[in-house]
Amino acid sequence: MESSTFILFGATGDLAKRKIYPALYHLFVEQKLPPTFSLIGLGRREWSDELFRANVKQSLLQFSRREAKDPALLNAFLRAFRYCILDAGHIEDYRKLLRLIEQREAELGLSPNRLFYLSVGPEFFDTIAANIRESGLGSADGWKRLVIEKPFGHDLQSARDLNRKLNQAFEEHEIFRIDHYLGKPMVQKLEVLHQTDPVLRELWTNRRIANVQITANETVGVEERAGYYDHAGAVRDMFQNHMLQLLMMLAVHFPNDNTSGNARLKKKKVMEVLEPLQKQEASANVIRGQYKEGSVQGKPVTAYTSEPGIDHASMNDTFIAAKLRIDDSFWGETPFYIRTGKRMREKSTRIVIEFKDTETPASPTKDGSRAPNLLVIEIGPGEGITLHFDKKRPGQKEQVIPIPVDFPANGDDVPEAYENLIFDALRGDPAFFAHWDEVELSWKWVQPILEAFEENLVPLRPYAAGTYGPVESDKLLAEDGFHWWLDAEPEQEPDIKKGEHYAYHTNH
Ligand code: NAP
Repeated sequence: MESSTFILFGATGDLAKRKIYPALYHLFVEQKLPPTFSLIGLGRREWSDELFRANVKQSLLQFSRREAKDPALLNAFLRAFRYCILDAGHIEDYRKLLRLIEQREAELGLSPNRLFYLSVGPEFFDTIAANIRESGLGSADGWKRLVIEKPFGHDLQSARDLNRKLNQAFEEHEIFRIDHYLGKPMVQKLEVLHQTDPVLRELWTNRRIANVQITANETVGVEERAGYYDHAGAVRDMFQNHMLQLLMMLAVHFPNDNTSGNARLKKKKVMEVLEPLQKQEASANVIRGQYKEGSVQGKPVTAYTSEPGIDHASMNDTFIAAKLRIDDSFWGETPFYIRTGKRMREKSTRIVIEFKDTETPASPTKDGSRAPNLLVIEIGPGEGITLHFDKKRPGQKEQVIPIPVDFPANGDDVPEAYENLIFDALRGDPAFFAHWDEVELSWKWVQPILEAFEENLVPLRPYAAGTYGPVESDKLLAEDGFHWWLDAEPEQEPDIKKGEHYAYHTNH
């Protein structure tokens, strides 16, 4: 890895504190940072270098997955950190920053390779990129990279406008758009999933796969993000980016496709053949929900419209479920169902692949009297891949037995998404970042849904907090003879079921 300077916009913010500093520290401990490394933190706050380092240290003590207990190691890490006051709109601040970077490059004998990390609100993305160019910060004789947080645009047009502006300062190969789901270890494995195991390879045919279900459920409500969330909703906050990325990562497995390597090209291909949804037909394929009061994990919680900062008459979506089809010879007959929501019964991100019974083609039943085989990929909070077989054990009634296929070898020592992503950005490996083609095609696919929501063509369905969303979400699958797998029964505690089926999972 070449020596470089890490220039962090938003160094005083929440994301830097909770994710970026702990990730950098782990990379440092594991000797995965460049041998000579310089970090310059930026913000409007009038911090000194010492105060900045004290804040970084505090964030490690609070948020690092490994205790930062070796003072010598910690001090060696913090020595790379400098702070510079900068207002995103003030060009003279960028010139001052350039002088500081050059001074550090000279002191440390660094090549002028510069990684600009934008951990600031999206309203600053284009201004900062323009000022990097204008000030000469991006004109040194080394590489330059722009790492950019979500959200990337608010709809198709705003995403295109933003990209055009960024392209005036950075070329596509220099832009690393973070979708932190792509940094999750289990998501990274999806790319090679059907090659890892001969049984999976055998099962991976469209003759056998009945449907694919992708779920990302949260128990939290809107929290402190009311101002942003009430204008974004689940469709922008989760669906357009994370959920469609999960779909792309899974669907890139065309078994007869021998085009080597480039998963990003394959992901683009998936989005190109994702059957477009017309605005008028959105209500038949998309369920839009909003949580009412209820109880989550035994605690009463308020309705979305009673949350602080939310308009009492808000029609914003806190839940979305959709049926999608990929129009190609492999996936053409296989429906994909996606759902994501806030204030759900349990926190869980998982993919379930339901297999057909090719011998007895009767539909499986929910009461368990006939269960299909399932491949279950747990992405969070626990991680693991299991095959669920409908098996009868001697002396016992029929039951489903989960067989682990793959799970983390070292429990809590699994790297966080941000560690993987920052490491890749420093190495210049774009594989697990969202390419503009994917982002644009995702917005293009989602745009009719945004418009249908805006025009109220899709009814807003209420659901009680602490459930799995509106009943219409169940009906969406029932129409095709399916149901969502692994939802806990109403009277059953989700932990009990989880304990039975995922005893080997790590809990983080
Ligand atoms: P935050 O806590 O509000 O921090 C914002 C940062 O931007 C602060 O460091 C602030 O520094 C700086 N800033 C604000 N106005 C500025 C200006 N005019 N000039 C220069 N710096 C300015 O926000 P955050 O939660 O860290 O989020 C940062 C980005 O990450 C956002 O794009 C967000 O959508 C994304 N993100 C956050 C999370 C998360 O968990 N927090 C998760 C995913 C994505 P000063 O106040 O010192 O100026």
